[in-house]
Amino acid sequence: MSNPLPSPEAERVESQPDAKPEILSYPARSADLGGGMTVVRALPLRQHRLVGPWCFFDHFGPLQFGERKAMDVAPHPHIGLQTVSWLFEGEVLHNDSLGFQGMARPGELNLMTAGKGITHSEETPPRNSGRIHGLQLWVALPEAERRREPGFDHYKSLPLLEPGGGRVQVFMGELDGTRSGTRAFSPLVGADLNLGSNGKLRLPMNPAWEHALVVIEGEIDLEGTQLAPGALHYLGTRRSGLELSSKASAHAVLIGGAPFGEAVIIWWNFVARTADEIRQAREAWEARRHFGEVKAYQGERLNAPPFTVRPIASH
Ligand code: MN
Repeated sequence: MSNPLPSPEAERVESQPDAKPEILSYPARSADLGGGMTVVRALPLRQHRLVGPWCFFDHFGPLQFGERKAMDVAPHPHIGLQTVSWLFEGEVLHNDSLGFQGMARPGELNLMTAGKGITHSEETPPRNSGRIHGLQLWVALPEAERRREPGFDHYKSLPLLEPGGGRVQVFMGELDGTRSGTRAFSPLVGADLNLGSNGKLRLPMNPAWEHALVVIEGEIDLEGTQLAPGALHYLGTRRSGLELSSKASAHAVLIGGAPFGEAVIIWWNFVARTADEIRQAREAWEARRHFGEVKAYQGERLNAPPFTVRPIASH
């Protein structure tokens, strides 16, 4: 997707290398995109946090729709990140300027590595289930990789674990020795967690990593704390495991990774290190340079919103 809640100024975010193993719950921002589609943004936060290399977390839907196209995000550019399209219901068709096409479906991942620059579109395909519900996540690329050649990968099959009382699918990185096998450039985890009624889930974790949970549906208890939906629950580092439970069935997503070690600048669909890089990327897009065209998309591309270069607050 294109960032549906762009800010006129760049946001600076970073990891916490030695965050306490506490539970910090941050309310998400939400916006109505029209046509009944809502998006709830859990990252970036005003508190400037990355979670490992994860820098963006948007949750859209659920939505049931009729004849019209529920999602139609015209061609737009990205730099410095990977887009992770993970669906709970429905279908989203990706096309990009390299000529790749991929259909995201529940349990199948679309992963685009933007590197030095790529353009893509994402839309509801003509034949669809009439429902859409899912996530758009971004992973920041580390300094040594962020200018790499762009690419796109589609994964049809991802590891599914069934520890007692739950179902876990690892879609990025690794969890307790189970590897997703998806392309990654930093140590990280992205996992879909489902608990049944009176479900319990014990997950061993890497204590050097930081983690966060977003509850998609239902209520989940973590160490006596109820984790409400519609918030990012930041868990810090130094945890060797998580024990989750739920009375009724519940669904959450776990993200985490090694503290990223680099402060990142985010604006619109760009992840960079300086405001000047953002300005240059915006100018290249507006001048139709560098990013290429999505030949498979019928229609106009998106224009970049205005960008205000201001000193970026550190903290
Ligand atoms: Mn996009």
